[in-house]
Amino acid sequence: MIEILFATSNAGKAREVQAMFSDLDVDVKTLKEDGISVDVEENGKTFAENAMIKAKAMAGMTKKIVLADDSGLVVDYLNGEPGIYSARYLGEDTSYDIKNAKILERMEGVPKEQRSARFVCAMAAIMPDGEVICTEGIMEGLIGYEIKGTNGFGYDPIFYLPEYGMTSAEITPEEKNAISHRGKALHKMQQELKKRIQG
Ligand code: IMP
Repeated sequence: MIEILFATSNAGKAREVQAMFSDLDVDVKTLKEDGISVDVEENGKTFAENAMIKAKAMAGMTKKIVLADDSGLVVDYLNGEPGIYSARYLGEDTSYDIKNAKILERMEGVPKEQRSARFVCAMAAIMPDGEVICTEGIMEGLIGYEIKGTNGFGYDPIFYLPEYGMTSAEITPEEKNAISHRGKALHKMQQELKKRIQG
């Protein structure tokens, strides 16, 4: 059994990772489960840099494989905003109803061709021997015209997927996992870890 420490306080995310890694003999624990607390300043300029910063901060505290991610919404018309500031956009404690409404307001009157956006997820792992592995996943879509759907979280209700005719808050969690930025980044990471764990 290989142990992985995942830099999240979100138990749901850790379960997602455990499920994605189900064919590897690994046990995924969150920081809280391992009694580790780190206060990291996410001051990178890219999703990958922020994931690395989180992973590096933990690597010195454990002999396990450490894993960290960073993700967000990139809106082309808004010059890439909210980007790496997705969680902090309009303030960390501001509700997503307000954040989503603000983005829709800033996009008012913008035609469909200019509403392209994507969710990006970067994952960084540091192996016990110090090797660093980075992967990335992207889910392309458009910013919709209204808030729709109650599945998912965050910016999902304004993220329209043309091939489904629905937002990522309207498709099922299983459908979203199969196409999501996080699902893709995780899948790539699983492939990389598999090579190293199983040879
Ligand atoms: P973090 O990677 O957990 O720090 O997430 C960054 C932020 O990006 C989240 O708080 C959300 O605002 C946004 N985000 C990342 N992934 C998704 C997603 O799948 N749906 C909706 N919002 C997301």
